[in-house]
Amino acid sequence: MGRITLEGVAKRFGDVEVIPPLNLDIEDGEFVVFVGPSGCGKSTLLRLIAGLEDVSDGRILIDGKDATDESPAKRGLAMVFQSYALYPHMSVRKNIAFPMKMAGMDQAEQDRRIEAAAKALNLTNYLDRKPGQLSGGQRQRVAIGRAIVREPSAFLFDEPLSNLDAALRVGMRLEISELHNRLKTTMIYVTHDQVEAMTMADKIVVLHAGRIEQVGSPLELYLRPKNAFVAAFIGSPK
Ligand code: ADP
Ligand code: MG
Repeated sequence: MGRITLEGVAKRFGDVEVIPPLNLDIEDGEFVVFVGPSGCGKSTLLRLIAGLEDVSDGRILIDGKDATDESPAKRGLAMVFQSYALYPHMSVRKNIAFPMKMAGMDQAEQDRRIEAAAKALNLTNYLDRKPGQLSGGQRQRVAIGRAIVREPSAFLFDEPLSNLDAALRVGMRLEISELHNRLKTTMIYVTHDQVEAMTMADKIVVLHAGRIEQVGSPLELYLRPKNAFVAAFIGSPK
């Protein structure tokens, strides 16, 4: 579970083609980073995969099944945003439980998943607090917890750490990498930060003006950038 294939996927807003047709294969369990400058189409591409935007052309396959016309809920993917989008009046426990409650899951199963997520994210002692009583890093962990309890086949992160200060960002990067090692679930992670891409990714997708410039491991991109844009962006010596 967690294999995602884009076939000729394109996106236009009115007359503007933000993403020309592209192909991409994401393997089950991979940590894939979409990296590129602001405005290059990273969020749009992620939202197409999530089903939050409709494709203008092409197909999206999830685990070999055509999901192009599936609703976001049916795709089995969980999105984590940079603005944590927590409910301020609800406790951490209720925030994490929210998607399960909406799905009508029975209470014992909800409790089991909340305990497991809280343990994985070091939130066990914070379950009765409100988001306003948490640090930025803790709030981001709650947002991740709310994604974990859905047991998605892939996590989609859109610049989840950009609201955090530099020191906290380093810690959260490690936490997310560790979570990936533990869960072994596909993760697609969007960032404009080359260091984040180079340190976290199994596979980096370099985007520029909606096009894929290169796909490869951090080492491949560093040693063999395909063009001057990739070399400059990744900061390799060529
Ligand atoms: P990134 O996440 O890499 O910063 P985006 O995917 O947000 O880039 O945006 C890519 C391009 O698409 C930008 O030029 C942006 O203005 C445009 N765009 C994004 N969403 C919309 C929209 N809903 N309507 C029109 N243009 C949009
Ligand atoms: Mg964006």
